[in-house]
Amino acid sequence: MPEQSPLDLPEGDPFGPHNLPYGVFSTREQPGHRRIGVRYGAHVLDLHALATTSPSPHAALLTAPTLNPLMAAGRSVWQAVREAVRAAVTDPAHRATTEDLLIPLDEVTLHLPFEVADYVDFYASEHHATNVGRIFRPDGAALTPNWKHLPIGYHGRSGTVVVTGTPVVRPSGQRKAPSDPAPVFGPSVRLDIEAEVGFVVGTPSALHEPVGQDAFRDHVFGVCLVNDWSARDLQAWEYVPLGPFLGKSFATSVSAWITPLDALDHARTAPPSRDVPLLPYLDDARREPGGFDIRIQVDINGETISRPPFSAMYWTAAQQLAHMTVNGASLRTGDLFASGTVSGPEPDQLGCLLELTKGGGPYLQDGDEVVLTAWCPGPDGARIGLGEVRGRVAPAHAESTGGPAADDPAAVPPAS
Ligand code: CA
Repeated sequence: MPEQSPLDLPEGDPFGPHNLPYGVFSTREQPGHRRIGVRYGAHVLDLHALATTSPSPHAALLTAPTLNPLMAAGRSVWQAVREAVRAAVTDPAHRATTEDLLIPLDEVTLHLPFEVADYVDFYASEHHATNVGRIFRPDGAALTPNWKHLPIGYHGRSGTVVVTGTPVVRPSGQRKAPSDPAPVFGPSVRLDIEAEVGFVVGTPSALHEPVGQDAFRDHVFGVCLVNDWSARDLQAWEYVPLGPFLGKSFATSVSAWITPLDALDHARTAPPSRDVPLLPYLDDARREPGGFDIRIQVDINGETISRPPFSAMYWTAAQQLAHMTVNGASLRTGDLFASGTVSGPEPDQLGCLLELTKGGGPYLQDGDEVVLTAWCPGPDGARIGLGEVRGRVAPAHAESTGGPAADDPAAVPPAS
């Protein structure tokens, strides 16, 4: 009986020929040699080797140690490379060559696939924003007056974007409950997750030239899952009036695989109807549907706690791209913009523990492992899987537990 080929995938495999996400990997034999690969089933197709063993006009891009040069090359190149990869895994003429370039996933180390340029995080779920508004501002309106007029966002910290599998050390910082007489310093006691979808910019744009919604496909290379780890106690004390800062910047986890935007064509869906008129640069009533039917699953320690639907997001990624460039701000290759926590209308569709526990916890314990997975519809009933985002909470570093001045009793603020 012939040995099963890794090119023959099980029925329904979400990493089949319609997906073909890009990543960067190394092997045990050559740990310092980072190479671009494409996930196919439970294997990685070594694109570096493919581009050097068979002639490719894009060899210089495919032999780079990150995806950035390929991402910067623009949509026509993305499409040409994708077609070549698809042919490599589906064309019988290439079968023997391709089989030699497939490496089992469990034999590789996956790295952050691109150099993150700027990182922006939005707040696009009406359900999430409403739920959080009620918890953080119980005496005020749940949604701020601007919320339905523009996609609210903030600039995050790109240097702490980490790849799936990276442990997340519990952050320390200041917190102060309203009833506390003074702030205290120490490890966060309200460490949370935020299940999000991230969009990765390939083609840059020029300063002073806004990128409209119609140019979305020209600039966005692909999509990944994002866990925007959040320390709610640090966040609640620091966020007024300038927004998230140290409660968010300690770590943001992303998938090792970037699914090309073109792979999501069959998942396009109209966003929820808007009840407030939008300014022309945000109006999408007569454009291609800007939503994506991505179904996310959140597991903690092996138990599924939520299934947030990305199709419920009020603001689309195309609107977010248009908004963040409408003032003339330029895009760089490697910019990452995340959707904001994905929450749907149902109690089992909420994307963070703050909402799932109505603000009361329990939050993450040391040792807890959080896994985000997702899929969306592809052609002919196929499923397109997004790469998982896995992260385990590690204890706070010892020197952080007492604060910088912990050895000076006079400097220690009163405990709460
Ligand atoms: Ca977030």
